[in-house]
Amino acid sequence: MATQKVAVITGASRGIGAVTAKLFAKQGYAVCINYKSNKDAAEEVARAITSDGGKCIIVQADVSCEKDVVNMFESVDKALGKVSVLVNNAAMLKTQSRLENMTAARINEVLTTNITGYFLCCREAVKRMSTADGGSGGVIVNVSSAAARTGSPNEYIDYAASKGAIDTLTKGLALEVAAEGIRVNCVRPGLIYTDMHSDGGEPKRIERLKNAIPMKRGGQPNEVAEAIYWLASDKSSFATGNFLDLAGGL
Ligand code: NAP
Repeated sequence: MATQKVAVITGASRGIGAVTAKLFAKQGYAVCINYKSNKDAAEEVARAITSDGGKCIIVQADVSCEKDVVNMFESVDKALGKVSVLVNNAAMLKTQSRLENMTAARINEVLTTNITGYFLCCREAVKRMSTADGGSGGVIVNVSSAAARTGSPNEYIDYAASKGAIDTLTKGLALEVAAEGIRVNCVRPGLIYTDMHSDGGEPKRIERLKNAIPMKRGGQPNEVAEAIYWLASDKSSFATGNFLDLAGGL
């Protein structure tokens, strides 16, 4: 019997990550559902997976904390086996603000979570996947944002800049490990219906902005999850260092 593939999905308790975790489980992956503080939501995702016959574990870890990330990958090694897919998805933003009003504490929190967190998870995944280290290859999909292109003026330049860094991480790491059996790609969603807009202080943000989207609507989390799944699958086997914009034409 073929060994079950293992996917680590960060920030899988809610939004895009939760839908992605359920999709991977449905496709036969054993899934690690990572979350930071919302245990109930993570357990609900796990319940949906197991009641559908899937396999998963839940791991609490703040991706910006090196120790937490190391522990998370060790837990996955023990409970599920060697990771074959990493979906780097966990990220956050703060209340909408112009740059003049941003404190160092705020900027550092956003950058540490959204950049350092992705780097640390990539590091642990590469150590396990790289054929140069005895691994059998794998795929990393980074979730960036259209904000990397728009810059999010008057809302959260700090968040947008963190996503610009993820684009650069994707390019550099893809080239660094291309000959070691690892593909690294990136999705850049536009306005997607999740809790994130409430965190920015404007739950109805998509309604305000959707007329500026060529398709005149926001996106659903599953429209991002399907693209992540495709990039993680063998169907995209010659794609690395690539960016897939999922933004309705924005
Ligand atoms: P969301 O609904 O706000 O969910 C965020 C998820 O990340 C939650 O599961 C949360 O866990 C987790 N998380 C946050 N900080 C974490 C940390 N330090 N360590 C571990 N987990 C953490 O977000 P979303 O809208 O689905 O966003 C998912 C990804 O898509 C992000 O990378 C985001 O930047 C990107 N994106 C979203 C949009 C959009 O319009 N929604 C657009 C472009 C890009 P808890 O439940 O425990 O808090």
